[in-house]
Amino acid sequence: MKFNTKVIHSGVHPDPSTGAIMTPIFQTSTYVQDGPGNHKGFEYARTQNPTRQVLEENLASLENGFGAVCFGSGLAAMDAVIKLLQSGDEVLATNDLYGGSYRQLVRVFGKLGIQSRYIPMQDAADIERQIRPNTRLLWIETPTNPLLNIVDLDAVCTIARNHGLLVCVDNTFASPYLQNPIDFGADLVLHSATKYLGGHSDVVHGAVVAKSRELHEQLKFLQNACGAVPGPMDCFLVLRGIKTLHLRVERACENAIQIASYLEGHPRVSRVLYPGFESHPNHAVAKRQMRGFGAMVSFELKGGQLEDAKRVLAATSLFSCAESLGGVESLIGHPATMTHASIPREERIANGLSDTLIRLSVGVEDAGDLIEDLGQAIGG
Ligand SMILES: *Cc1c(COP(=O)(O)O)cnc(C)c1O
Repeated sequence: MKFNTKVIHSGVHPDPSTGAIMTPIFQTSTYVQDGPGNHKGFEYARTQNPTRQVLEENLASLENGFGAVCFGSGLAAMDAVIKLLQSGDEVLATNDLYGGSYRQLVRVFGKLGIQSRYIPMQDAADIERQIRPNTRLLWIETPTNPLLNIVDLDAVCTIARNHGLLVCVDNTFASPYLQNPIDFGADLVLHSATKYLGGHSDVVHGAVVAKSRELHEQLKFLQNACGAVPGPMDCFLVLRGIKTLHLRVERACENAIQIASYLEGHPRVSRVLYPGFESHPNHAVAKRQMRGFGAMVSFELKGGQLEDAKRVLAATSLFSCAESLGGVESLIGHPATMTHASIPREERIANGLSDTLIRLSVGVEDAGDLIEDLGQAIGG
């Protein structure tokens, strides 16, 4: 089955009791058994829920994995992945990563004895040099957030295999429509389904797809044992969102190319970060491992002070100033004071995230309208 068919049909079957074409929302906490232990595969809704199960089958198929496990948010999904490790283990992570992921690793798992280090991952040879005896997991975001660097998945997964490390790729920015990390050797793929999968900014949800039966079983155990499960309504909303994933991401990518090109030629813009440009340092890698270049675009203003960036954010009308990304509507954000405020300033600047960087999540509106809105906000 091709991707555009999978989004609609994988794991989805008409409800056997009514023929309902849409997966019902099984809003129940428990299931009646004919006698103790004599049940239909469903005992208690933390452990199993039919709506969630359909979504998990669908996601596993979209990411070419063995199985998927859903959670109440992307960070709850990450929490389960890190709990595959033990005290004393180390996580080696992309330095330019989602602020909440950084916060969880440092402030929650750090004090439980799981260490983490943050390095640029554009140079595979350097990653290999950084591996220590207790390194156990490589945590990768690509494209990175918000600098839109690209990590070579094939190269990194080869190194990980040679050193017996697990690789988890946070695939939130690309979505499974543009990139399938398991095809390059990743063990685990994480999604904040809050973003492109849900796609309509109306649900918070997360998922992990595992390459192997063994990892899937360990994650199912953690899902049940720790209990950060999503509600059935949220699973339904993500399932519904996924049905148009290919259409939305396709259009958003087309809009992003036009917007990135417009900004590149704007006299008040000093730098546009977008992996679709041939001048982007990792363009060739992006072309190899992605089916499109994504709908995230970051840029900096010429000679910009923090105040200049803030003025642009306050002046757009179609682009809403908000955290998050991946919805049908376009958003504009200021990582330094919003999504990445939890990363200390020195560390942020050292990683190349300036005070004036502006991040766009391009939606599926009319590209001309979006460009006009940015133009009047940037001025000049
Ligand atoms: C939003 C986001 C997360 C966290 O997901 P939540 O659903 O908000 O918990 C993790 N990684 C990336 C790249 C994100 O954008």
